[in-house]
Amino acid sequence: MSKNMSATNQAELTPLRELSARIGSDPLLTQASTGNSSIKLAGVLWMKASGKWMADAIHEDIVIPLDLVEDRECVKQKVDPAERYTRASIETAMHAVLPHRVVLHVHCVNTIAWAVRQDAPVQLEHQLDGLRWQWISYVPSGLPLAREIEKVLSASADTDVLVLGNHGLVIGGDDCGAVEDLLSQVEQRLAICPRQADPTDYAALAEIADGSSWDLPDDDEVHSLGTDAISRAVLSGGLLYPCQSIFSNSSTPGLFRSVPCPDPRDQWESRYCTLPFLIIEGCGVIVRRTMTPAQRAMMSGLAQVIQRISSSAPLRYLTEEEVANSSSMIASRYRELANASPYSSAR
Ligand SMILES: [Zn+2]
Repeated sequence: MSKNMSATNQAELTPLRELSARIGSDPLLTQASTGNSSIKLAGVLWMKASGKWMADAIHEDIVIPLDLVEDRECVKQKVDPAERYTRASIETAMHAVLPHRVVLHVHCVNTIAWAVRQDAPVQLEHQLDGLRWQWISYVPSGLPLAREIEKVLSASADTDVLVLGNHGLVIGGDDCGAVEDLLSQVEQRLAICPRQADPTDYAALAEIADGSSWDLPDDDEVHSLGTDAISRAVLSGGLLYPCQSIFSNSSTPGLFRSVPCPDPRDQWESRYCTLPFLIIEGCGVIVRRTMTPAQRAMMSGLAQVIQRISSSAPLRYLTEEEVANSSSMIASRYRELANASPYSSAR
């Protein structure tokens, strides 16, 4: 790539960086290094690098150039571009196959709260009526998702909104302004008012955490996972989206089941020594002091999703096979998150 070319691109990347920073700073739209943005300029796919936080887009060089023709050729040859290029996001294939100049992918809590329902396609038909949107049932990120997107686009070429089952949202457009407008339209239509949880028992939590390796989370909203009966029931059913496994680096849904309030005088710590957090029935949540800011951000996102799922919603949990099949993605994302330089701690 010539120097002139890359200088031009840097200027053209500014709107993408600004958009990414705005989106990345809204925890209801994206958490930690999840979500990604890209722009296609003269055969180059400029895309958020793996493990980077969109929130860092202004102050840090989070966007890397990838050869669009090569990426698309990879997909054609059934090779995942994310495996071929270091630093390329697992969602590169998806951005490459989409024809739109600007693509934004977010794990927005309102969309996920719809996208984990068995009846999501029917519900969304009503919510998104009039938009050029399509539903894609859950498939793992990478080649499988890119292939499904190709199928959908071959039947409906004018699609610019994709709702990904048990995953999130994709918006495409000619420029960053169009994408941001469309995102805000979709957000308005999918907005769900979060449930009001019962009060947190801070005194009980402080007593439990006192002198232990546990701490109270910075985000008070997280306690709803323990204080809200509907949330506890929703969580006990299994994993709703792959990133949920990030906390445990395993596929044990039991992690998300609440436990009775432990007696602080009891030897309770050894019982839960492998867990990164504890959801305590009727009290709230305690987290390991070693929990990374990225994991904390993911946990806040989870609480926001769960508070938007009603008790009557027919839920579609990930199957054991799906969790197992996405385990390599989860493992790589887990490492990314563990190493990420978090914007939340930098400010
Ligand atoms: Zn994603």
